[in-house]
Amino acid sequence: MPRVAIVTGSARGIGKKIALRLAADGYSVCINDIPSAKDDITAVVDEINAMSSQNETSSSRPRAIGVVADVTSSSSVEAMVRETVEKLGPLTLMVANAGIAQIKRLLDVTEADIDQVFTVNFKGVFNCYTHAARQMIAQGDPQAAAGVGVYKIVGASSIAGFKSLAALGIYSASKWAVRGLTQAMAMEMAPHKITVNAYAPGIVGTPMWDKIDEELGGIEGRAQGETRKVYSSNAALGRTSEPEDVAGLVGGFLATQDSDFVTGQTMVVDGGIFFT
Ligand code: NAD
Repeated sequence: MPRVAIVTGSARGIGKKIALRLAADGYSVCINDIPSAKDDITAVVDEINAMSSQNETSSSRPRAIGVVADVTSSSSVEAMVRETVEKLGPLTLMVANAGIAQIKRLLDVTEADIDQVFTVNFKGVFNCYTHAARQMIAQGDPQAAAGVGVYKIVGASSIAGFKSLAALGIYSASKWAVRGLTQAMAMEMAPHKITVNAYAPGIVGTPMWDKIDEELGGIEGRAQGETRKVYSSNAALGRTSEPEDVAGLVGGFLATQDSDFVTGQTMVVDGGIFFT
């Protein structure tokens, strides 16, 4: 029986690499993103389905579907979960990856800025956690329903969820909030055989960091490309992270049975910038 995952915000960046890693490891995957990313969703779905046709004889043949949905809408997330289960089978993993960055000094932040960041980064994760959990509970015992020891819910925090970054204050607060939600959800879901964890990347080479580099560099007076280098220079392992580094933690550990006894944790994967 294939394991089934939803990865939000997976048309590009970290989410895309997590989805590709899960598919390579035998998961069927729902690729989700917002309407403007429709073509990129289709490209990721096609890439995964091309992998499956090469492995046609494999019993763990991956399959992918694309679902356009904004995670800030509870009803859209609920519909995405329903469609995924109808087309791919019982849901065994939710990766609430979608998030946005905002670069502003706190005295310039408006109420609308707070709403924008918290609606995507916190409420979006809340919608994904809770609708996935309702579905998993309705499926019943994970071994009987889907052949896995536990169901898994995973969310995107950040090293900024442990040590806030200047000019990323509201973003940092939203990532602390994900860490808090993850702990409470882990306690409430444990009786249902659902684990809940989060990942905390450092400085990852994605379009999100292109934006941070440009806007934070503008505020702090650095040339394009310099801010990423400055922030990455604190990493003990001496380089900027790749999305694959994060996919290794999520796909290679948090999505596997090796993490069945881990819950409530936010795991840092940053090459040694912040030590928990
Ligand atoms: P990214 O901007 O490259 O990709 C994020 C994806 O999420 C995009 O495809 C975007 O369209 C999608 N998205 C945004 N809002 C959405 C919504 N409302 N509904 C559905 N999809 C939505 O970002 P990334 O660097 O790949 O980051 C992925 C996650 O990892 C984010 O939560 C981010 O905060 C977190 N993170 C990233 C870094 C980093 O250095 N890049 C570091 C720490 C944490």
